[in-house]
Amino acid sequence: MLTPGEVKLADGRSVEFANLDVAATAPCLRVVADAVAELLPFYGSVHRGAGALSERCTREYEQARETVADVLGHGPGDTVVFTRNTTDAFNLLARAVPAGTTVVTFDSEHHANLLPWRNAVRLRAPRSPGEAVADLRACLAELEGDVLVSVTAAGNVTGEVWPVERLAAVAHGSGARIAVDAAQLAPHAPGRLAGLGADYIAFSGHKLYAPFGAGVLAGRADWLDAAEPYLAGGGAGAHVADDGTTRWVTGPARHEAGTPNLLGAVALATALRFLHERDLATGEQALLRRLREGLAALPHVRELRLFPADAERVGIVSFTVAGRDPGELAVTLGREHGIGVRAGLFCAHPLTRRLLDDDGPAQPEPAVPASSSGQAIRASFGIGTTPEHIDRLLAALQ
Ligand code: PMP
Repeated sequence: MLTPGEVKLADGRSVEFANLDVAATAPCLRVVADAVAELLPFYGSVHRGAGALSERCTREYEQARETVADVLGHGPGDTVVFTRNTTDAFNLLARAVPAGTTVVTFDSEHHANLLPWRNAVRLRAPRSPGEAVADLRACLAELEGDVLVSVTAAGNVTGEVWPVERLAAVAHGSGARIAVDAAQLAPHAPGRLAGLGADYIAFSGHKLYAPFGAGVLAGRADWLDAAEPYLAGGGAGAHVADDGTTRWVTGPARHEAGTPNLLGAVALATALRFLHERDLATGEQALLRRLREGLAALPHVRELRLFPADAERVGIVSFTVAGRDPGELAVTLGREHGIGVRAGLFCAHPLTRRLLDDDGPAQPEPAVPASSSGQAIRASFGIGTTPEHIDRLLAALQ
């Protein structure tokens, strides 16, 4: 793992930086940095040249695609399109959905899976995994025609894992397709992606311990091959006539016009394979327990939850601290304790606002608002997080 090492605090002391904002962007794995460094001397054009460099770069790019397909358990009708990130993947999918298709989401989604769907049926955030399944079943029973359901696999505000396998079964049972936002599940449980039953999966390299700039939209090729190219330009056109008419290629190149992000794709695939070959869950769950139990013991701290307390979750916890402004508190944690967290609404405004409005446990006297600025704090972790990082956060909040 590449880390910044020690940071200087306001009082002059130096401490090892405790990065508890891994859900936003994860640090780069050394194996990923090495794979990128190895490729740098061989820079050449991808899909656009002959010669040793171009051949190598084209091969590495396509191997990265195969690695992703392999981890996702792809069959013959599936494809992997490299995008810029998860947001880009959903915007691409939104453009590729055939006209007349009804899209169904929950209003608890990250904006990446909310805003691209302009006319979606938005179900209200369920309060348990079972409710999510029941609500989707009831909704689909009312709908006619083609339907795409689009849901998160793990929420970026609460870390709660959604019952995607069951939602996929409900969707498929009524002839619908399902797209899954795996931005937060992929880094924690890449081995689960292949078994989700998703028709489409989207995730980002920078949350997988790879650098910025590459993401994936993977899934069934038919809609993607029939859709207007997401980007019009070199590589997407099979034949461009003098009169301006264009015949487009099929396959991933249809949506990847322009010189692709080779290093991003190789980094993403290297990280995905690395994570896929390891058991990440055990250590993370122990840290999660430590954090949640510690927070629960602090009477002035309230955890934000959509599902019941014992629901399955990944290493993400959001909370408020009575009487403290989350933005100011996050700055204090950084400057005085060397801890990186995030404050805000986490690009999931409807969900976070709703959770902030929930009745929490009684506030200590005198009554103070749970959060004076209508925001929350999020601590998130993964590889490289230690019990000391968690304990430092708890001690600071104490
Ligand atoms: N979905 C979820 C659940 C996320 O956590 C994020 C990133 N916060 C996104 C989508 C969007 O990812 P990106 O910013 O890489 O497009």
